[in-house]
Amino acid sequence: MKIFQCTECGQPVHYDNTVCTACGASLSYDPASFEMVSYRETPPANHKLCANREIAICNWLVPETDEDEFCQACRLNLKIPNLADPDKVDKWQKLEAAKRYFLYGLMRLGLPIITRTEDPEHGLAFQLLSNDGPEGDIMTGHDNGLITINIDEADDPEREARREALGENFRTLIGHFRHESGHYYWNLFILGADGDNAARKTFGDAREDYAEALQRYYDSGPPPDWSAQYISAYASSHAWEDFAETWAHYLHIVDGLETALCYGLWPTNGPDPFNAYESGDTQMMVEAWTELSLAVNAINRSVGQPDLYPFIFSPPVIDKLDFMHDLVATNSKRNKT
Ligand SMILES: [Zn+2]
Ligand SMILES: [Zn+2]
Ligand SMILES: [Zn+2]
Repeated sequence: MKIFQCTECGQPVHYDNTVCTACGASLSYDPASFEMVSYRETPPANHKLCANREIAICNWLVPETDEDEFCQACRLNLKIPNLADPDKVDKWQKLEAAKRYFLYGLMRLGLPIITRTEDPEHGLAFQLLSNDGPEGDIMTGHDNGLITINIDEADDPEREARREALGENFRTLIGHFRHESGHYYWNLFILGADGDNAARKTFGDAREDYAEALQRYYDSGPPPDWSAQYISAYASSHAWEDFAETWAHYLHIVDGLETALCYGLWPTNGPDPFNAYESGDTQMMVEAWTELSLAVNAINRSVGQPDLYPFIFSPPVIDKLDFMHDLVATNSKRNKT
């Protein structure tokens, strides 16, 4: 994530700010230019504010000519929780904030985001729901472009309890969006004879029965040497999950590297500085991120926090990240224009 500047006073501002704390100007993010815009009274010329600005603290702009009252992030919502309940509003806001961070990365990479209006059957959409709504128990997951996330995941003790119960190193809201989007992009980029064959060499055979594979994983756990092959234990459950886990990590790493670059935190014994959204190959990304995460993990330990990035890259994992790098390059709209 970049650091932004208030265009009124020049102070650095963050992606999710709605007001400049230095000069009091209102701030909005323009997803078309990836820039933050400051203004005093009325929104910037030719733009309106997202209709979710107050309720979801969404700071994105919408072109004035756009018929939709919601921004490109908020219009992807198919269902949201009952906002009459303040506790649900609070959790939903946290999910929306994570979703905007996640979408920044997809857009910076030039990845297609096809809405349900454009493709009613397979388009990307979100349901952010709680267990006590009319839909009953909410399972976080992906189905034909529809990503469902249980908003209880926004409750820290609840999410931490699930992380412990599932034996995960890492469980975050942004991680859920990135992981589930991996299933969406598998369907978009891989499904079909050719893609399936290419992915099989790297991720194994996705034709394996999914329900059986997950049952086996939950009954017997991952193979003892899982870290020699997979980025996470869960990635060992099925080829689809390996792909989604690796995809999420690819997105974590690219954005983490951009943030490090923008803050001048580049490892001296890594490759020359580069913005991973714009250049660099897998080897450079892996080298820079390995050095950087070693350092930041050590800083976290020195203040008693858990490691920022508790994962290691075995050679097969680097091959999988390289597959993602090629997949993004092949499918990015940036490269096609
Ligand atoms: Zn300012
Ligand atoms: Zn919005
Ligand atoms: Zn999954």
